Amino acid sequence: MTFFKKYVSRSGGVCELCALESATIEFTVSPKEDQIENQVAICSTCELNLSNKEARDHWQCLSGSIWSQEPAVQALSYRILYGMKNQSWANDIMESIDMDEEIVQWGAHIYEITLAHQDAFGNVLENGDNVVLIQALKVRGTNFTASKGAVVKKIRLVSDNTSQIEGKINDQVIVILTQFVKKN
Ligand SMILES: [Zn+2]
Repeated sequence: MTFFKKYVSRSGGVCELCALESATIEFTVSPKEDQIENQVAICSTCELNLSNKEARDHWQCLSGSIWSQEPAVQALSYRILYGMKNQSWANDIMESIDMDEEIVQWGAHIYEITLAHQDAFGNVLENGDNVVLIQALKVRGTNFTASKGAVVKKIRLVSDNTSQIEGKINDQVIVILTQFVKKN
């Protein structure tokens, strides 16, 4: 059976996100494979808006789809909302449901990869970690150079920039690029 035949029996033929228009596109929720359990049938309007974080009016529909019985539909709804989570209405919808942790992880998947602070070797950094400088760094605004191998304790992640952390060197809090550190 083709995807569309199967999914029509699942959702009745309408878009599984907005439930307003006929679905014409099969959307696979990465990183999973192209199997119906991992796919969502969406309409062209939803597809057009997938990368539009300003489409608040359109994406109100996710307050319905997030309650879907289909994990793939929930994961995709969550992912779209997650991309707009700095907008309170999107956050409200995400918090309105106690979703299965596995689906949350799936939904947030691409963000976890792209939004995590990582050291020079791809290790994920967290607030409070200790790191080691992998090269000597001149501290801007001073004539002090932090030596290679220096340990920076209890770093803080710069929240809007995944390439930067803050830490104390020589009793001074400075911004350090993550590409120059290794998690200790
Ligand atoms: Zn739609």
